[in-house]
Amino acid sequence: MRFRYYISVIIRCKMKTKVAYEKTEGERQIIVLKTNGCSYGKCSMCGFFKHCARNVTSADLAAQFDGAIKEGVKELHLLGSGSFFDDKEVPEEFQRYVFERINEEKALKRIILESRPEYITEKKLEMIKAKAVGKEVCIAIGLESRNNRIRNKVLKKGIGIGAFEKVAERMAQYGIGLQAYILVNPPGLTEKDAVEDAVRTAEYVFCMGKKLGAKVKAAFQPAFIARDTDLEKLFEAGKYKLINLWAVLEIIKRTHKMGNISAGLDTEGLADYYPKGCARCDAAIREAITAFNATQDIEVINKIACGCSKGEKNA
Ligand SMILES: [Zn+2]
Repeated sequence: MRFRYYISVIIRCKMKTKVAYEKTEGERQIIVLKTNGCSYGKCSMCGFFKHCARNVTSADLAAQFDGAIKEGVKELHLLGSGSFFDDKEVPEEFQRYVFERINEEKALKRIILESRPEYITEKKLEMIKAKAVGKEVCIAIGLESRNNRIRNKVLKKGIGIGAFEKVAERMAQYGIGLQAYILVNPPGLTEKDAVEDAVRTAEYVFCMGKKLGAKVKAAFQPAFIARDTDLEKLFEAGKYKLINLWAVLEIIKRTHKMGNISAGLDTEGLADYYPKGCARCDAAIREAITAFNATQDIEVINKIACGCSKGEKNA
């Protein structure tokens, strides 16, 4: 019984690895593991529970990881469906395994993991320090917004700003980088206010990083409609509008001088509805944002032009 389950996890993972779960761009690899699922699971826009399974063991995860990892990549983004450092979602044995295993990957310089703050304990920080020798470790945390009401009432993140700052400080002391996810366009805001909220949140993150002497990145994620979420209900009731990609370009233009930023366009196969430009400029905007993410060169963003941004009708 157990054996059969173990096989099925690996096969499913391998199939999905080929289709949509793993992308390489240059020398960066993204691996999405099929984990036990986020223990928190309350966030109003998150559809990642679709990626998870049950009773996933450390050995299952090691098989997924070994099957997916490519030799020669410089940066590895290892995702699950919530928090890498949550022992219920990702058995601790596998957490240790990852840090040991990446030491064999000579070309690999940086690993990025994701976690809610409460799982990034002293024990985990010590584990990273002891095992990830010579590798840059970065932990991505879904702050989403500096605004407490938006973060905790609207998005139901359950993350206090004090807890976020405390863990950011500890990470900085251990030399661990912080990537703050910022949700662009939470429900209840106009497009203009959504842009302001994202810009202010980035300002806050970089200001905090400077104070702590921490390596910080702001990763904007324009909200998309993941299936079976609170956000999908709002969208279907006509109470939520997707943001236009031009607003995302504005956010990039206003924040790129603050520090290292990126804007995510990928929906991980979780959404049918996501932010777009118009029929004429959508592809060009996506291409420009992808190029910007890789190079931080604002010129690729500045040169995008389309009548739709000035209110002209679509072609
Ligand atoms: Zn356009």
